[in-house]
Amino acid sequence: MTTIYLKKNKEESLLRFHPWVFSGAIAHVRGDVEEGDVVAVRSSSGAELGVGHWQEGSIAVRILEFGCSSLPESFFRDRLEAAYSLRRALHLVPTSTQTRNNTYRLVHGEGDFLPSLIVDVYGSTAVMQAHSAGMHRSRHEIAKAIVEVVEGVKSVYYKSEATLPFHNHIDDVKDGYLIGGEEQCFVAMENGLRFNVDWIEGQKTGFFVDQRENRSLLERYSEGRKVLNMFCYTGGFSVYALRGGAREVVSVDSSEKAIELVKRNVELNYPTAEHHRAVASDAFKYLSSLPPVASASDAFDLIILDPPAFAKHRGAIRNALQGYKRLNAAAMEKIAKGGLLFTFSCSQAIDKEMFRLAVFSAAAMTGRKVRILHQLTQPQDHPINIYHPEGEYLKGLVLAVE
Ligand code: SAH
Repeated sequence: MTTIYLKKNKEESLLRFHPWVFSGAIAHVRGDVEEGDVVAVRSSSGAELGVGHWQEGSIAVRILEFGCSSLPESFFRDRLEAAYSLRRALHLVPTSTQTRNNTYRLVHGEGDFLPSLIVDVYGSTAVMQAHSAGMHRSRHEIAKAIVEVVEGVKSVYYKSEATLPFHNHIDDVKDGYLIGGEEQCFVAMENGLRFNVDWIEGQKTGFFVDQRENRSLLERYSEGRKVLNMFCYTGGFSVYALRGGAREVVSVDSSEKAIELVKRNVELNYPTAEHHRAVASDAFKYLSSLPPVASASDAFDLIILDPPAFAKHRGAIRNALQGYKRLNAAAMEKIAKGGLLFTFSCSQAIDKEMFRLAVFSAAAMTGRKVRILHQLTQPQDHPINIYHPEGEYLKGLVLAVE
């Protein structure tokens, strides 16, 4: 196996189980190496630090196992079994008594010690996303292990055209079924609510599984409220608000496709709901079109802001923070007195403190009295590896606005 030798004193982070080796830490490479190869990593003095996938770019190796120089043949199967057993213990896997959920994240990258691999399960289909050449190269082996390990999963859809960074060095990246594929349309069940999931045409793996717990919290506060679900996509928050007894729900997204989807999902659960409307509009335009709260007799008193990641990389942090500030200020200006604001950021490059500061600045701009009621994060099937704090990507605040 090709061996990567680190510069002197560059082994510190690996000894603390952080799974990334940056290219600047590498002294030399012994052997030939191609993107996606499994390589061994050693310190300058030759100590075995671990084995990982080689990638061109600033993160040169993603460690799969520490303190060794080879992987067992059963590596992927073992890791998938561990991931599955955690989801079973968390009561996310459907059983004869657990019939309210059939949708969960099976593998959350570093959080399941499988860097750059995402697997979401929707009933009998697993949707798999590779973010590195190494995971791409192992896709068939991983797909086979998924159907062997996860009871009831018969199909594996591979969706990595949009997530793999270096297409030109990787052969044949094509989205499609690796196994099975008879089911073309699927209804996912989340806390007893039903959603159409389209992993082929939809965003990411087809559904944002990561908001499950936060949607439940919103349901608890929806009774009698007028709800604005901004950036609604499949309408997850809208359907929960309806079940929670909202008096009116408006779903907004700039994508026409999303608006069609939210309508279908509301109809699937509440075929006769007349108090739901879906509007295709830009978020900023929609918010600025609302009357100032002082003159609004019927302002929204529950607003959800769940935008796409404003910062896709560290270089975009400054602009992203401005974006979060503007967006939250626009919502705080228009929300009714006594309103609740559920505000989120899913940008990995922006941490909790930065996000909170952006929301603080928005509050200060509007001069309204704002209090934090809940601090939200990602759910239990998106675990955060304690040695890899970068894995904590979803941040949310529930605010009371006077
Ligand atoms: N809240 C959703 C996920 C949101 S994903 C859920 O619970 O599943 C982000 C959504 O924002 C996408 O559907 C995208 O179409 C939409 N979007 C992106 N830019 C927008 C803009 N400027 N105004 C309104 N919607 C936008």
